[in-house]
Amino acid sequence: MSKQTILIVEDEPSLIEVLSYNLEKEGFTVLTASDGQAGLDRALNVVPELVILDLMLPGLDGLQVCAQLRNDSRTKDIRILMLTARSEETDEVVGFNMGADDYVTKPFKVRPLVHRVKALLRRSETSSESSSDVISAHGVEIDRTNHVTKVEGEEIELTLTEFRLLWALMRQPGRTFSRLELLDDSRGADANALERTIDVHIRALRKKLGSRGDLVETVRGIGYRFKRS
Ligand code: CA
Repeated sequence: MSKQTILIVEDEPSLIEVLSYNLEKEGFTVLTASDGQAGLDRALNVVPELVILDLMLPGLDGLQVCAQLRNDSRTKDIRILMLTARSEETDEVVGFNMGADDYVTKPFKVRPLVHRVKALLRRSETSSESSSDVISAHGVEIDRTNHVTKVEGEEIELTLTEFRLLWALMRQPGRTFSRLELLDDSRGADANALERTIDVHIRALRKKLGSRGDLVETVRGIGYRFKRS
């Protein structure tokens, strides 16, 4: 397999250094840019497999870069991992709406971040396999192999987290999942994300499911479940 390319768009030299070092050690080709416009230009030029994108950047910020990458047919499928600071929590939510696949909060540990990067890239790899892995219920269809979700036959766009949540819920309809379980299922066992993050993703997921949003049921005091068949 040829080396996968990761572009780091980050204005803190020390972070660029530690991320580059660790990702190169894992066998990735690493490119860097230290402001939003340079990052965008680089991404359009090289079309990396994944972009690690800082939210707060000089010039174009991470959200603007993310939106522009998603708007361009060459770069719209690139995996985007957003880096945010804890005080920017509301922006994390905006980040997901703007199409980031996942985010990591600063300060972060390098190992879990590399784990997330690999998980995001695995999703791209498996999408080229031919065997199908499809669940369909109540007019909602989710295809894990091709990473496609349909409501009444119409394709909808989910973030990686929303997709994993829906997959976890639909795989066992009627089973109630605690928020903690869903965190593990959607973000990997090393996740330290807050439980209420799940509520935000569930809300976004329901909205995207439209008329079928109420299939994702709230179980008060515990978590969520997908309506039993
Ligand atoms: Ca920054």
